[in-house]
Amino acid sequence: MAWICPRCDRAEGVAYVANGGGLTPFPCLHCDRNAVYPAPPEGRAIGSAPCRTDRCAGMVCDVFEYDVKGRLYRVVRAPCRQCGQSSARAIQHGRRGPKEHLAPRPVR
Ligand SMILES: [Zn+2]
Ligand SMILES: [Zn+2]
Repeated sequence: MAWICPRCDRAEGVAYVANGGGLTPFPCLHCDRNAVYPAPPEGRAIGSAPCRTDRCAGMVCDVFEYDVKGRLYRVVRAPCRQCGQSSARAIQHGRRGPKEHLAPRPVR
């Protein structure tokens, strides 16, 4: 499970670990930019990617919320407004196959 990148808007871009100190995202697998720094002045960033449902033109969004110190404290998945699907369409994997093994597993 990973978030939609707020920088390049591709699904499953931002892997993260959740621990007692909050949320620690990793740089995006697609664009290599960090979703957290610098925190946007408005205190939130939104990544949006196409809905996974076939033939649905809606979007699934991840809303990144930052505290006053610029730390990421919450990410809210907003389902598709057209069909309610909460999964974004995964991008096509390259010839080398899935990269999941490179991503740290989220701690639950
Ligand atoms: Zn990205
Ligand atoms: Zn949809």
